[in-house]
Amino acid sequence: MVRFTVLASGSKGNCTVVTGGKTRILVDAGLSCRELFRRMRLVDEDPATLDAIIITHEHSDHVAGLAVTARKLGIPVYFTEGTHRAWVRWLSPRKQMTYTQWLEQCRKQAAARMAEADAAEAEDCDPEDLDPSAEPASNEVAEPTARQAAPAKDPTALPSVQFFQAGKPLQIGDFHVSPFTIPHDAADPVGFVFQAEGVRMAVATDLGYIPPNVKAQLKSVDLLLLESNHDLEMLRDGPYPWSVKQRVLSRVGHLSNEAASTYLETEYDGQASYVILGHLSESNNLPELARIAAERALDGRASLLGNRLLLAAQHEPLSTICF
Ligand SMILES: [Zn+2]
Ligand SMILES: [Zn+2]
Repeated sequence: MVRFTVLASGSKGNCTVVTGGKTRILVDAGLSCRELFRRMRLVDEDPATLDAIIITHEHSDHVAGLAVTARKLGIPVYFTEGTHRAWVRWLSPRKQMTYTQWLEQCRKQAAARMAEADAAEAEDCDPEDLDPSAEPASNEVAEPTARQAAPAKDPTALPSVQFFQAGKPLQIGDFHVSPFTIPHDAADPVGFVFQAEGVRMAVATDLGYIPPNVKAQLKSVDLLLLESNHDLEMLRDGPYPWSVKQRVLSRVGHLSNEAASTYLETEYDGQASYVILGHLSESNNLPELARIAAERALDGRASLLGNRLLLAAQHEPLSTICF
């Protein structure tokens, strides 16, 4: 059976679980490990059955719980090289080294990490582990303490890193995954189409607009998770500083209700059984505004059989969709 569960969607954390055949993939890890596991159990999913994590881009609402979750589960993480590099830099703000030097250091540390594997088993699933500011400053002169005397824990250590490229499909277990470039202000952001058992499910959030390559990917999907981030008027009149408003509105920002519904009305092929609106802003949008705009755009195409419209939420999982 093919399943799709949005555990969280929005600027405070994004996580989705896709299941097909014998494979289960976590798409983004923007919740703390503890909260992620709690939400999976809420929808009767066992975190221990996850096979891999795949990342859209390095913004914290997509990776905040990544390292702890991957280490806890001992599963591989799939990134583009650009996203991985940006994520490493984000977690290593004090380290002055090139990416090549970092990879070399990783190789040297690999043996040491193997020896520490038993200790890692006992690693607590603690969101505080992720706060880069909580890491002891390497250049800080301080009295040695028991904590500092222990081997420094590399915040970027992962059980396994797998690279993929936008535009080059890959196989993860029973899933055929098509990553595609999206216009967003991150190093190398992507959306995905996941295909298993003949079912195609698209994830397209965090994009300033919908360029032709994305429109091509969103054709003939059975499920479409599409960003409907903000209402233009609410954003313009809302509390964000001018610079942030400009960022959100830009071609590498976020998709408005208006842009999402223009796409649904004029370009969307109407093939999906489910259309899920996601990444709704809590400051500059209301679920009802997003829903009404999309319903109007679907214009009678929504039914029990096709184009069922759902809204993904920030603070609770959306019920699992089964095919
Ligand atoms: Zn985001
Ligand atoms: Zn983002």
